[in-house]
Amino acid sequence: MAKRAYLSIGTNLGDRIDNLTRALNILMRNPANQSIKVSPIYETEPVGGVKQDDFLNIAVALDTNLTPPELLHWLHVIEHSLHRKRLVHWGPRTIDLDIVLYEDEKWQTASLTIPHPEMGNRRFVLQPLLDVMDDDPVHQARIKQLLQNTTDHNWIRPVE
Ligand code: ADP
Ligand code: MG
Repeated sequence: MAKRAYLSIGTNLGDRIDNLTRALNILMRNPANQSIKVSPIYETEPVGGVKQDDFLNIAVALDTNLTPPELLHWLHVIEHSLHRKRLVHWGPRTIDLDIVLYEDEKWQTASLTIPHPEMGNRRFVLQPLLDVMDDDPVHQARIKQLLQNTTDHNWIRPVE
């Protein structure tokens, strides 16, 4: 029985739409990843005060037979294959893939924390996430609550 994972994906360097497309293609190249639902694309203000270009962010609901550590490894494979082209440019990243939720599981190891500890502080994670949770009312209620209470007021707008 496949498990439900939620991912947050962001990019602010190069052809951002192409980066998202390539990341999703590689994600589904792993046969253990069975199906995905992808959120609308949002353009978002960089959080944290570093001057850099705006991000595109999406969320993905992923049904997978990978365990969280296996999934993290696959996300790193994707990051490496997209980073490589851009190694000459220092600075912002072409792609960042994070595991936000995995079923109701809690993970706390040196390389993996689930639920993602920053999700409540990031409107650009919460808003797209809500868009892919129609079939998951328990998580949906939790994320709605976090979105109402978040102190992150950076702008985020759907891409036309
Ligand atoms: P950030 O996502 O905070 O911008 P990185 O993408 O460079 O930073 O990730 C640094 C490390 O965070 C990864 O190598 C990974 O081991 C760790 N990490 C811990 N929890 C998670 C998670 N839930 N999803 C993705 N990476 C995680
Ligand atoms: Mg990351």
